[in-house]
Parts: sequence; C-alpha cells; structure tokens
Amino acid sequence: MHVLNYIGGALREPAGGGYLDNVDPATAAVLGMIPDSDARDVEEAVIAAENAFPDWSSLSARERSEFLLRIADMIEERRDELALAESDDTGKPVALAESVDIPRAASNFRFYATAIEHFASESHAMGKGALNYTLRGPIGIAGCISPWNLPLYLLTWKIAPALAAGNCVIGKPSELTPTTAFLLSGICREAGLPAGVLNIVHGYGHKAGAAVVEHPRVHAVSFTGGTDTGRKIAAAAAPLFKRVSLELGGKNPNVVFADCPYEDALQTALHSSFSNQGEICLCGPRIFIERPLYDTFRDDFVERTRQLTVGDPRSAGNRLGAVVSADHMDKILAYIELAGDEGGRVLCGGQRVRVNGRCRDGFFVAPTVIEGLSPDCRTNQEEIFGPVVSLLPFDTEEEVIAQANGTPYGLAAMLWTENLGRAHRVAERLHAGIIWINCWMLRDLRTPFGGMKQSGVGREGGIEALRFFTEPKNVCIRM
Ligand code: NDP
Repeated sequence: MHVLNYIGGALREPAGGGYLDNVDPATAAVLGMIPDSDARDVEEAVIAAENAFPDWSSLSARERSEFLLRIADMIEERRDELALAESDDTGKPVALAESVDIPRAASNFRFYATAIEHFASESHAMGKGALNYTLRGPIGIAGCISPWNLPLYLLTWKIAPALAAGNCVIGKPSELTPTTAFLLSGICREAGLPAGVLNIVHGYGHKAGAAVVEHPRVHAVSFTGGTDTGRKIAAAAAPLFKRVSLELGGKNPNVVFADCPYEDALQTALHSSFSNQGEICLCGPRIFIERPLYDTFRDDFVERTRQLTVGDPRSAGNRLGAVVSADHMDKILAYIELAGDEGGRVLCGGQRVRVNGRCRDGFFVAPTVIEGLSPDCRTNQEEIFGPVVSLLPFDTEEEVIAQANGTPYGLAAMLWTENLGRAHRVAERLHAGIIWINCWMLRDLRTPFGGMKQSGVGREGGIEALRFFTEPKNVCIRM
C-alpha cells in the first residue's frame, strides 16, 4: 500500500518526494511505502488547519458531533479491513485488532461525539452582585503524536476530543504503523469532514514529529510514546509555552496477595503479561506474589504460559503474534540476556521463535517468565515493552508497596486481594495514575487516564481531555 499524507482534505505526496519502507513484522516483507515527510509538509498542514479553523470552531457542538458519529459508524463498518491492516503493520493477532483496537477507535469517536454535548463550563457567583463565568473555546491547532503499539486506538483517543472541542488537528502516527491512519484519512473524506480539519502527516518522529512540536502555530501537543521522547518533546515545547500532554512509559506492578481470587488473578495475570505481545503501556511485567502463594502461582503461571501459542497473526488461535520490528525484537532479547547476567532464571521462553511458512522470517519472541531478580536490577526497573515478566516474592504489605513504587514510573498498578480494607489501603499508597483491583484493562472512557512520575504529565479521558483541548477564559461581570 502506497500511503500518502492527508493535508487540506487531499491525499498528498511528501514535499521532499522521499518514501520509507513499511515492513510487516510477521513476515519481514515490505508492505508498501510511506511518506518521509518533513517541516514543509507540516507547514502545509498548519496552513490547511488554519484555513479550516474559523468554520469548524464556529459549528455547534451538535454539528461537530454528527461528523464524529459518522466517522465512528464508518470505522465499525470497515472493521475487518482496518483490523487486518493493523495486524499487518504491528504483528498483533488479527483477532485482537478486531476485538480491541478497531472497536475502541470507533468508541473514541462515539464517546467524544456525545461527551462534547454534555461539556459544561463553570460559573462562580460572588454574592456581591458579581458573577464569573468561564468560557472554554478551542485552543486552535493541536498536534497529536501517537505510538505503534495501539496505532488507531491511541491516535483516535487524541484526535476525537481535539476535534470535538472545535480544534483542527495535525496527526503524526508512528512511522512503523501508518496504514490505519491512512485508511482513516479515506474515511474522513467519505464522511465529508471539511478539508483541513484533520491532517495526517506521516514519517519519522525526529523529522515530521519534531516539526509538529516545534511549529510556533501548533498551540498544543498531545503525545503518547516513550519517556525519552516525551522528555525531548517537553524540552522543545517549553520555550514556546506550548500546552503539552504526555502519556509515557511504564513498568507496572501486579501485586498478588495470598488471599486473592486465585483463578481470576492467574488468568488475568496471563493477559496483563502477554496481551499484544506485552506491548501495552498498561501491561504488568513485575508480578509480586505473597510468599505463601509464590510456588503455586509460579508453577501454574509457567504452565499456562507454555500453552500460549505464538505464530502467524492471521491464524485464529495464536495468542501472540510478532513484535513490531527487528530492532524491537533485538532489544527484548538483549533484556532477557541481561536478566541472566543479573542473576535471573528463565523459567520458560527466553528466545526468538521461528515460525514455519509465510512467517518464517518474522520477529517472534516466546512469552518469557523470569524469577530470582532483585527489584532494583535493570530488568525490573527499565521498560522492556515485550512478552517478558519477572516474578518476585514478598512478605509484607509495607515491603511490596515500597518495591511496587520503587521505579521511576507510575502509570498503572494491579492488586489482587479479597480483603477490602487492604485493597483500599494499598490502592491509596501505590504511586500510579491508574489502579485496578481484581481486574485489568477494565476501562470507562469517562475516567482520568495517565501516569505519575516519569509516566507522564496530565491526564487524558473524559472531561480531562476536553479541558486539555480548550482554553478557559474567565469573564467577571458586576451587575
Ligand atoms: P516513541 O516515543 O518512540 O514514539 C512515539 C511517537 O513519537 C511516534 O510517532 C514517533 O515517531 C514520534 N517521535 C519520536 N521522536 C519524536 C520527536 N523528537 N518529536 C516528535 N515526535 C517524535 O514510542 P514508541 O512508538 O516506541 O511507543 C512505545 C512507547 O509508548 C512505550 O514506552 C510505551 O510505554 C509508550 N506508551 C505509553 C502509553 C500511555 O498511555 N502512557 C500508551 C502506549 C504506549 P517514529 O515512530 O517515527 O519514531
């Protein structure tokens, strides 16, 4: 597929004429070409967005909502095509893209199409014949930069609230996974979205992405990706006093107390370890298990991990597909080697998987379980973002809270216990923006979403995103 930029309502070649290969990680074959865009393409997109802004921001919330609902319907109608494209780009099982990624992309549009109609601003009566009311208008042009692990899901999680609030948008998907964003361009054209309201510029982060962040007339940047990239974006945006939302990496703890609902805890730990090949920022790669349960849990967990099938993402029944690229596979394998050097014992997995047939050259990694590592070694501190988990026994609540909190990250945490008092107590003390008790990935789109410490700045979701994408202006009137 020959991916093109979507600028001013039209599909456009990149200004520099250069293209990058888009590689299918399951086969290592080149799927097609994507534009190697640069600051010139971003400039065109900014001009298109500026031209579209007066009319788009003047529409009523209901009118904008209708466009977004139409886009949601069309994503649902084209679910199978989008899911296959997502799987080809990322290596994830098609079944996962069909059941999670694409439905959620439609939900993102549907949710914000309706949320904007309920979005209200504040008023503060002063009691001395004066009244304040707050106007919340769109900021202007928003840059939305998204990663490769949940490509359409995370891009639309940003685009939908930005558009709903009346902004015009420049999207920059990961260059590793451009296709569903390109298909979304077609959907927006068919849905009649006015030209320039949404623009999508493809290419490298350090070129096209950086040009979005550094552009003086892009007023806000919503970014999801790695912590190191987030740091660069924060540094580039700061001198421009640009509003920035950063959703970054994680090294989430999954804390299993001996009084947990055992079968649920075990089965869900399997999901939170290996779903999407462990390439979800919310996965729980550090599993802390209370000592009396440790041996039983470890043995059952390893046995079930061994049963997970790894292979062609197009074959129903394979639970894990390929990881996103050769570089990423090498990074994961290097961490497994490091774990050995740090004293870890690999209980299962630990190597590349060779798959027969169409996927023989693909980038597959066996789901890997390691024990014997100290909580503060690099394997337990740094984000691996692959199908690798570490098991750690603990004795007391104090100890596990300290260890769970003992990384630079603070995105999500899971805890498993039937003890209600302990559940609330531990939840309050864990340093993470999202806590799941006796569950994982149970999502209500109204809730604040985001991380503490080096996992991010700001929150997405519900009213938080609508606030991020609007500028409050207080009006005080004496009556
Ligand atoms: P990266 O940080 O490498 O990239 C994210 C996006 O930023 C890509 O579109 C990338 O383009 C772009 N980019 C890279 N450099 C710059 C730059 N200097 N200026 C502007 N844009 C840039 O992350 P990954 O794509 O590798 O995604 C994995 C990471 O995302 C993990 O750390 C994961 O934890 C995190 N993540 C966080 C989530 C959260 O909600 N907190 C959710 C999902 C993932 P290009 O691809 O071309 O480099």
